[in-house]
Amino acid sequence: MKIGFGYDSHRFQPGRPLILGGVRIEHDRGLAGHSDADALLHAITDAILGGVGAGDLGELFPDSDPRWKDADSATFVAEAMKRAAEKGYAVANCDVTILTEQPKLLPYKPAIRANVAALLGVDAGAVSIKAKTNEGMGFVGRGEGLAVMAVVLLVEA
Ligand code: MG
Repeated sequence: MKIGFGYDSHRFQPGRPLILGGVRIEHDRGLAGHSDADALLHAITDAILGGVGAGDLGELFPDSDPRWKDADSATFVAEAMKRAAEKGYAVANCDVTILTEQPKLLPYKPAIRANVAALLGVDAGAVSIKAKTNEGMGFVGRGEGLAVMAVVLLVEA
C-alpha cells in the first residue's frame, strides 16, 4: 500500500464558474486559474501522483502550456491514475477536506462524491467529501479563496 497527500488553493474571481470535483456549484464567484481551477481535483491529482512518487500537477501540466487553458481537470486525474497504474497501483479510497467560508457545500456533496468515485474507479463509499469553514481566519476566513486537502490510499492493482 502507498498513501498520497495533496493540497491546493485558488483565489476567488468574479465572472468564473465555480467547479469543485467536476460539479458546477452556484456561487457569485468562481476560482481563478489557468485550467478550470477545480482545486478539489487538483488536490486529488497531487495525492495520487505523490503516493506513487510521480511528481506533481505543476510539473506534468504547467500553467505556461496553452493546452491546459480552461482544461477539464478530470484530465489531470485520469493522467495521474494512468501513471499510478503504470507503477502497478490503483486507488482504494480517497478522503477530502474543503476549506471555505462560502458557499455552503452540503447540497453538492453527494454529486461531488459520485463524480470523484467515477473518476477514481471506486464505489462512492470509498470517497469522503468533507467541508468546513476556517472560522474566519486567514485567506480562507476572509473569503479570498478556498483550499482543499486530499489523501488517497493506493493498493497494488
Ligand atoms: Mg490548482
